[in-house]
Amino acid sequence: MTRGRVSSRVSALKPSETMALSARARALRAKGEKVVSFAAGEPDFDTPKHIQEAAVEAIRGGHHRYTEVAGVAPLRAAIAAKLERDNGVRYSTQEVVVSNGAKHSIWNALFTLLEPGDEVLCPVPYWVTFPEIVRLAGATPVFVRPEDGGAKVTVADLKRAATPRSRVLILNSPNNPSGAVYDPAEIERLAAFVVEHDLFVLSDEIYEQLVYGEARHVSIASIGEEVRRRTVLINGVSKTWAMTGWRIGYAAAPLDIAEAMERLQGQSTSNAAAVSQQAALCALTGDVAPAREMRARFAARRDLVVERLARIPGVRLTPPEGAFYAFPDVSERIAAAGHGVRDSAGLCDYLIDEAKVVCVPGSAFGMEGRLRISYAVGERDIVEGLDRLEAALDRLSAQGSVPASRGE
Ligand code: PMP
Repeated sequence: MTRGRVSSRVSALKPSETMALSARARALRAKGEKVVSFAAGEPDFDTPKHIQEAAVEAIRGGHHRYTEVAGVAPLRAAIAAKLERDNGVRYSTQEVVVSNGAKHSIWNALFTLLEPGDEVLCPVPYWVTFPEIVRLAGATPVFVRPEDGGAKVTVADLKRAATPRSRVLILNSPNNPSGAVYDPAEIERLAAFVVEHDLFVLSDEIYEQLVYGEARHVSIASIGEEVRRRTVLINGVSKTWAMTGWRIGYAAAPLDIAEAMERLQGQSTSNAAAVSQQAALCALTGDVAPAREMRARFAARRDLVVERLARIPGVRLTPPEGAFYAFPDVSERIAAAGHGVRDSAGLCDYLIDEAKVVCVPGSAFGMEGRLRISYAVGERDIVEGLDRLEAALDRLSAQGSVPASRGE
């Protein structure tokens, strides 16, 4: 076998489908098309003014140099204080590692925990990046499908998938793409499972603040010392503070794991950008009103999306309780479709071509027959985009009996 110029590990990487679709929406817009994109994985708001000001001050105040690899002490202390205040779990400053976005924190965590041959329990639907990093680390993602067809796994589902090689459970609540939030009793049961099977849990809590209605976020690390010892908690400022471009995420973990992650980061990126660290410090210690306002806007949009999707026949939605995504089941409409549309990816292509509406196919998240619709877009776009989506679905069904003409 001849060896390629790119390593087999990197060749096998999937490009991020969510980012690719956002790029496709931008390209169509650049051509003058009136696109409605429901592909966004980030808030459409600007970073709050007081945080912008703090960053400008940091630039003027000389925050220009390398910092400690794991982040400046005041930021690590502010994160530890936040985790105690909001999540009821205590970490020392040394147990907090600041990285270049939560994605980087997840990288550090999985490379620190995994050996080649390990298995990682990866509930479906999953955020696109999890299995890719697991594979890069030489481990194997084991996809765990909720038997009830929903978006949350039970301990029974996990037990069926667990083997002696299982090492890490990935938990992402509130969830991207489904918006599902595990309730406190479910988190307790998952914690007991993690302890019983002597696993680690990578708990991605990046959407923690974006919960609606009765839903409440509970950090699995707060359940007890046994599970805290086995948890790497991931969070960041990207979603809560509309700071995706600043690239600040963090991990909190028991000291041995945190120190190992710091060593790993010390040989890759070193510290996250010094100015961004100051901006994040301002976000975590300053006025919370802007974050509350953004959450209120997301809550209103969520209601709008839930109400509008409910009026489209053959589209079934469990109302999302968190994050900023709806993940409706459109399998009935796909089954009735013409135009060569056979799956969620085909449906997304059709919607882009025919309605200039961009959604992300469920298949990207391991769940066929669904669409991910991000409501991190303005209210007017939501109304316009869902009107177009419904009309395009109706045209698709009307042509259901016509032999396929494209996508062959
Ligand atoms: N985790 C999940 C579940 C996400 O959806 C995202 C962003 N799409 C991230 C982590 C990454 O966040 P960051 O931008 O801070 O790297």
